[in-house]
Amino acid sequence: MRQSKLFTKTRKSAPKDEVAKNAQLLIRAGYIHKEMAGVYSYMPLGLRVLSRIEQIIREEMNAVGGQETQMATLHPSENWKQTGGWDGVDVLFKINSRTEKEYALGQSEEEIVTPIAKEYASSYKDLPVAIYQIGQKYRDELRAKSGIMRGREFGMKDMYSFHESQEDFERFYNLVKEAYFKVFSRCGLNAKVTEASGGAFSEKLSYEFMVLTDAGEDDIVYCDACTHCANVEVSKAKEGDTCPKCSKAQLKAAKAAEVGNVFDLGQKYPDAFDFTFKMSDGTEKKPVMGCYGIGTTRLMGTIVEVLSDDKGIVWPKSVAPFVAHLISITGGNADIAAEADRLYELLRENNIDVLYDDRDVRAGEKFNDADLIGIPVRLVVSEKTMSQGGVEVVSRAMGTTGLIAESGIIEHLVA
Ligand code: ATP
Ligand code: MG
Repeated sequence: MRQSKLFTKTRKSAPKDEVAKNAQLLIRAGYIHKEMAGVYSYMPLGLRVLSRIEQIIREEMNAVGGQETQMATLHPSENWKQTGGWDGVDVLFKINSRTEKEYALGQSEEEIVTPIAKEYASSYKDLPVAIYQIGQKYRDELRAKSGIMRGREFGMKDMYSFHESQEDFERFYNLVKEAYFKVFSRCGLNAKVTEASGGAFSEKLSYEFMVLTDAGEDDIVYCDACTHCANVEVSKAKEGDTCPKCSKAQLKAAKAAEVGNVFDLGQKYPDAFDFTFKMSDGTEKKPVMGCYGIGTTRLMGTIVEVLSDDKGIVWPKSVAPFVAHLISITGGNADIAAEADRLYELLRENNIDVLYDDRDVRAGEKFNDADLIGIPVRLVVSEKTMSQGGVEVVSRAMGTTGLIAESGIIEHLVA
């Protein structure tokens, strides 16, 4: 993509009311556009990153047998009344129609997925089943000050599973827990898992996946000597206590962002929708249900919070909007421009996704924008590099610079 054609431009400052670092950087670099508190549009650069995050999640959910769907986000109020959520869920957006009907905007999907599963899974032979989707959720959040980490409209991957028995549910629950660790590490993050109460969803246990960052809204304590981690809100543990798991170190306190969770929903929703299936002996039984969320946009915001410096974003390769940022410093020399154009075509022919800064602006502006946008590899073509017979390669994360012969570029980028 030629940067001269990219319709977003970088900006010097973020909107004054934007306090979160993730949104400040993403807005300044042109990834997202703020519509109002808690609501953002995703621009071409932002959609590239979000889509790559979603694809990582999709691969890991498919690997545990999840089947992707796209369920409705405009919900009939009847379903929410049937579970008590209409009056019980404080963040639910309710809509009145001119035909005097009432609707809810999906804040979670149990009210839709349970009747769907009831229709298709009528026998033990149809179980277990796990269905998921990746899409928009709407919540009437009281505070929306964390940029894309807490939106009123935001992205979520939500999966729901139905099982014949508690044992089978627990088998799958552990599988998803492992898949979640893969998702977060592929996104360049270190996630810790806490065991926490299911809160409003159920009284059963759940796991919360936490990434340490001051931008997070959760307070946790964790142990450096083992994997122990607990949410302060629900556990009695506090900073300085001896780790209850390994006894080897004292617990440390930190702020963290909950990027995902897995819940044991028991039979709450099958009860509400009278969902039974036939057992092999002919008797009817209610399935055990689990739900598994990942905040896709919160995950993107968390990556920015954790992987950025004072110049801008430092995307991990796995979710970066482009593999490389090609920059031409022509100083008005047509030969240099032609050389950069040629390199751009070569990269495209090799299916390497590259952002090509072909704009007629000062070198300093190009470099500052490249630092802000945060693509992992920068390739510079200039009078100097041409005289040395190569291309300058700069790593955004390490700051290291080197000269590579043009013949070695493709190999360097696909490595
Ligand atoms: P929180 O305690 O942060 O409000 P939650 O317990 O309400 O989260 P769930 O309802 O289980 O979260 O949603 C699943 C995932 O969706 C969360 O783990 C989080 O990553 C993400 N998420 C929840 N609310 C928001 C929001 N308002 N904006 C962005 N992401 C969110
Ligand atoms: Mg919430």
